[in-house]
Amino acid sequence: MATFSKTHEMIQKMLRELCRDKIAELAAEADKTKEYPPELHNIFIESGLFALRIPEEYDGGGMDFTSSCIVVEELARVDGTCANTVAHHQAGLCSFMKGAGKAQRHTYLPKIGKGDYLVGFALTEPNAGSDAFSLQTLASPDGDHYIINGSKCFISNSGLTDLYVVFTTVDPELRRDGITAFLVEKDTTGFKIGKPEKKMGFRASPTCELTFDNVRVPKENLLGQIGKGWQLVHQSLTETRVMIAAMALGIAQGAMEVAVSYAKKREQFGKSIISFQGVSFMLADMAIQVEMARSLVYEIAAKVDQGDKNLHYYASIAKCAASDIAMKVTTDAVQVLGGYGYMADYPVEKMMRDAKATQIIEGTNQIQRMQIARHLSKIY
Ligand SMILES: Cc1cc2nc3c(=O)[nH]c(=O)nc-3n(C[C@H](O)[C@H](O)[C@H](O)COP(=O)(O)OP(=O)(O)OC[C@H]3O[C@@H](n4cnc5c(N)ncnc54)[C@H](O)[C@@H]3O)c2cc1C
Repeated sequence: MATFSKTHEMIQKMLRELCRDKIAELAAEADKTKEYPPELHNIFIESGLFALRIPEEYDGGGMDFTSSCIVVEELARVDGTCANTVAHHQAGLCSFMKGAGKAQRHTYLPKIGKGDYLVGFALTEPNAGSDAFSLQTLASPDGDHYIINGSKCFISNSGLTDLYVVFTTVDPELRRDGITAFLVEKDTTGFKIGKPEKKMGFRASPTCELTFDNVRVPKENLLGQIGKGWQLVHQSLTETRVMIAAMALGIAQGAMEVAVSYAKKREQFGKSIISFQGVSFMLADMAIQVEMARSLVYEIAAKVDQGDKNLHYYASIAKCAASDIAMKVTTDAVQVLGGYGYMADYPVEKMMRDAKATQIIEGTNQIQRMQIARHLSKIY
């Protein structure tokens, strides 16, 4: 596995303590109320988690990609919602960093560096999910402005976000070559956020529809170039897929820990259930899978930091493998806890619900397998 630097080890220790002392309890309660508590948000802000990757010259943490994966893994170990909040801010931020010109960096990075200014990633539409080239949200030129009309769905952190990176099309017929990104600030006239969706997992994370009704944005808000938005989508998703893999790893690790500790305490037939081979082999298989995911996630996170040229291929492998592992490990953790595992008083049922999302978000695992196979047919 890629080795952690002293800084990485320090971040891991800090996050582990933060999660244990301040986050775990608040997050478990938030899953029940289905509301994202301001106290939790303030902890993230005070701990600098939203500004981790912002360059130090803008007061950010100046951390590398591996550090952000460590943060997301540790958060997910106790709560998927928290991990999703930080990871999806990173998704928006990643597109911003890759597309922003000098003036845009100058305007927004000092705000983001303060740690309380969130960036959203708005790509998915009701009729354009996996087939993202079919975007219909239209950006039409109007003098020194563009007028945006359309809608987005399933957008994470809606309402918490200050600046949305919105992927539009300047001409739906052009498909990929029409995709164009704009920066839309939350208070822009004509821009509305719908009610939070009721979800299986990540329940406290607000996921909403966004609507654009003649939203006027100045040409300065164009992110990158007209018709080049797909490059931003592709580059951002490549990185954030590795982050979703880190999230899946954290969920799997958390579920395994709960399962082992329960199996040591729970007695049936006069013995602790861990002494039964049927149970202990399930736990051993969990450990094998978790460590496989860990090796993969950090090996590929290091490739992000090094700028590997085949990153999209490795990112899809990491995302697919780690999320399938999270689904399997959390499902088995519920099994180890038996009936108690199915009850909301124990954390594994929530972990199983949260794990499911990692197989869908940032491109479903079917789409990842398509990408992997496409790359294989090119190289062999
Ligand atoms: C909790 C959550 C948070 C999210 N946050 C964001 C966000 O912040 N920003 C954002 O833009 N989006 C977000 N999304 C949306 C997410 O990225 C999409 O849901 C995902 O890409 C799938 O799109 P879809 O839901 O339209 O499914 P569809 O594309 O309709 O897919 C339905 C099924 O068909 C399969 N399928 C589709 N095409 C193919 C094919 N060619 N071959 C094989 N199988 C195929 C899929 O794998 C899937 O199983 C979020 C989703 C969730 C659940």
